[in-house]
Amino acid sequence: MLYYMPTKLYYGQKCIFENKEEMILGEKAIIVTGRNSAKVTGALDDVISVLKEYRIPYIHYNEIGENPTYEMVIKGKEIALKEECDFVIAIGGGSPMDAGKAIAVLTANSDLTPDDLFDMENYDVALPIVTVPTTSGTGSEVTPFAVLTKPNGRKSGFKSDLIFPDVSYLDPRYMVKMNKELTLTTAVDALSHAVEGILSKRATVMSDILARESIRLIYEYLPKTLVNLDNVEYREKLAIASNLAGMVIAQTGTILPHSLGYRITIHKGIRHGQATAIFLPLVAEEVDKYSPEKTKIIKDIFGTLDNFFKFLKDLGIYDFNITFTDDELELFTNEVMSSAHIKNTPGVYDEKKIKEMYTKITKI
Ligand SMILES: [Zn+2]
Repeated sequence: MLYYMPTKLYYGQKCIFENKEEMILGEKAIIVTGRNSAKVTGALDDVISVLKEYRIPYIHYNEIGENPTYEMVIKGKEIALKEECDFVIAIGGGSPMDAGKAIAVLTANSDLTPDDLFDMENYDVALPIVTVPTTSGTGSEVTPFAVLTKPNGRKSGFKSDLIFPDVSYLDPRYMVKMNKELTLTTAVDALSHAVEGILSKRATVMSDILARESIRLIYEYLPKTLVNLDNVEYREKLAIASNLAGMVIAQTGTILPHSLGYRITIHKGIRHGQATAIFLPLVAEEVDKYSPEKTKIIKDIFGTLDNFFKFLKDLGIYDFNITFTDDELELFTNEVMSSAHIKNTPGVYDEKKIKEMYTKITKI
């Protein structure tokens, strides 16, 4: 058994200012963000004020959209090379953090293309990475993963110990600006990470301990936060829950619900966390048939698997209207069957069962 989490994580309100010298990991920074969230949350201003204090020059690349593409990370690499940046500060939700990780590897290995990221044998160095999350869902601030959307539209993750951030700052003050929908969809992403972690064939004693606390915190604080969006204490609980869930998947990886959800995000535009969490009860039920001991933590917290489903339903994550054509079902099923996620999911899965899962979620 192994527990490995090499990121230095500072958490709590104003943690950047209390540990500002730790942010200086080079002589020129590329700050990677989306268009708005880094700015409106106040995180960008805080980072820039620290860089200015230490007289560290920086370039700000703010073109990372949701579900980052090859184009976005290639552009970031080109800017970082041209400007001779030697460390990355990624601020935002999962997309800027994941893009920042890709840019850190591509800049340090300038002959590589984004396709090369998916084989970790191709590189053994990356620029140092600092992350400042402004959502509480992906846990990317403590994981060795980054997810990119390939030119063929397929969403795929790559993994390397080199992209564990060196330093992350988890400050709940940056999260109070999230609206209700984003709060919900990111929190259920965190919930998916924790639940998939306990169901995974790769679950460990350590990952289960972290996952249990993560699920408990989400169960207790997500409903409260949704009606008190600016309560920073509740935000802190969800930030910690999401972070613990990130530490879980850093050990276990994600399983079937993530693979099922990626297709819905890309083809139907449903946000990642929601697209994933809608499958959790179906997969938990399936795992329960083969490895009932794996669902014990869910039952301890929610009482029954039915109650777990009801909790999700009451949050409104099934309130959407989508249908699938036969061609879509065929495509999604083939992609899911060939994904790595399915191998780590207890149970027996064939094309028929995967198609049934897609059909079921349209009828809830
Ligand atoms: Zn996720």
